[in-house]
Amino acid sequence: MSDNTTAEQFDVIVIGSGPAGYVAAIRCAQLDMKVACIEKMKDRDGKNTLGGTCLNVGCIPSKSLLDSSYKYHEAAEQLSIHGIETKGVKIDVKKMIERKDGIVKQLTSGIGQLFKANGVTHIEGTAKLLAQKVVEVTNNDGAVTSYQAENVIIATGSTSIDIPVAQIDNKYIVDSTGALEFSTVPKRLGIIGAGVIGLELGSVWSRLGSEVVLLEAQDRFLAMMDQQISKDALKIFNKQGLDIRLGCRVTGSEVKNKKVEVQFQDGDGNEQSETFDKLIVCVGRKAYTENLLAPDCGVNIDERGCIYVNDLCMTDAPGIYAVGDVVRGPMLAHKGSEEGVMVAERIAGQQTVLNYDIIPNVIYTHPEIASVGQTEEQIKADGEPYNVGMFPFVASGRALAANDTDGLVKIIAHGETDRILGCHIIGPSAADLVQQVAIAMEFGSSAEDLGMIVFGHPTLSEAVHEAALSVHNHAIHKANRRKRK
Ligand code: FAD
Ligand code: AMP
Repeated sequence: MSDNTTAEQFDVIVIGSGPAGYVAAIRCAQLDMKVACIEKMKDRDGKNTLGGTCLNVGCIPSKSLLDSSYKYHEAAEQLSIHGIETKGVKIDVKKMIERKDGIVKQLTSGIGQLFKANGVTHIEGTAKLLAQKVVEVTNNDGAVTSYQAENVIIATGSTSIDIPVAQIDNKYIVDSTGALEFSTVPKRLGIIGAGVIGLELGSVWSRLGSEVVLLEAQDRFLAMMDQQISKDALKIFNKQGLDIRLGCRVTGSEVKNKKVEVQFQDGDGNEQSETFDKLIVCVGRKAYTENLLAPDCGVNIDERGCIYVNDLCMTDAPGIYAVGDVVRGPMLAHKGSEEGVMVAERIAGQQTVLNYDIIPNVIYTHPEIASVGQTEEQIKADGEPYNVGMFPFVASGRALAANDTDGLVKIIAHGETDRILGCHIIGPSAADLVQQVAIAMEFGSSAEDLGMIVFGHPTLSEAVHEAALSVHNHAIHKANRRKRK
């Protein structure tokens, strides 16, 4: 046990240095608070690292491999249409993985530099929250030090969900972290879960030549997305060669002769099995609070295992906040970062709030899938009147020039006020395009307002403009079927 009477005091202690924690720590420091950020994560070489899941094993490494694999796929399959001959294109997987590791290193060490520049104290070790806002840290050597804080921000993130029917062995059966490290392209790759991460990782290895089968328990593909977009996505991914099997519940798995045999019940209830060279388990993530909370620390957990917080990210204990994946809401890096900013500014006495209704969500497949606001199904269920405008990329000059015409932009506006309620895009650069609509929504824009803005030509964003015009049936570059308003 350590002696709390001499514990170093901080205005704020942040536990966890992922995008929620490091952003919170930096913002607190900018607001002149004495801040410490405690992080326990180590990289593959056993060195302490900052940046959490996002920078080390999440957003950044996955996008790095998505970009590399897409360039390979373009060179191998798509450049001939432009008159570019690329015979004998090869992929060097080791080099691709090393490039990814280099990007991770650059960004994670960048967080250390930002901490130094802002005066954030970086404490290496595993934190435990005790009563009275005392934080006990066990370092790499097992030494325990206590710190005292006026305010604590918990940002301990999330971890992959394990399923007993396919236990990770990190050789044949891996989670998303293992799937970022394959040293060769698996000939046959099985993926349990056709959600965001499964589709992104499946795309990486499929582009490099794997035969990919995704086993998804739900009958509906991407059930949380606007159904028009998810139907289009399913067709496009099937065309790309991803074998997505819906309604398939995995019941067991076995490693035999250096392969994984997976047993599952298909959509018709028949017992099936498939053999793969590797299997990725991507069935979702859960809040991470292991050994974090002493029973008398005052913080409670909700029914889904997340730390219970209100809309301002306050836990049940005064002066203790929680942000990011460890609390309710979508598990997205930018959602956690904005919660971190909100909490830092609230501690500083500002009145910052976060608009949870306008958080963009992206799947970085090709084409990308991006959305913000409500889906058509949600609006219909609420009984609100609405109008829909759509524009297909096949009618965009810029998309045609780029030979990237799959997908569409869909904008949904309120039937009476015309306020934009949601935007759903599948297509080239959907992630960046949806952000334009998110900005418009944040300013309370109507579809008509967006339609009156001048968009540069020729750009992909003209498809957003045309979809906004199409809400009132006066898109220019497609036939409007309904009466103009
Ligand atoms: P984390 O990033 O998980 O960080 C929490 C940190 O807390 C960790 O470093 C952990 O070591 C530390 N910690 C935990 N307990 C303790 C303790 N007791 N003491 C000290 N330290 C502790 N999101 C997106 O928005 N866009 C994407 O493209 C995207 N792609 C993803 C791809 C993959 C493969 C994965 C797995 C996730 C992806 N995500 C993406 C999700 C994103 O990574 C998370 O939403 C984000 O990292 C959550 O941030 P966080 O700060 O809440 O937690
Ligand atoms: P996401 O939460 O986007 O990462 O997606 C995880 C996906 O895994 C969801 O679509 C779940 O329906 C799916 N899933 C969860 N458990 C299983 C299972 N046992 N077999 C197949 N799919 C599953």
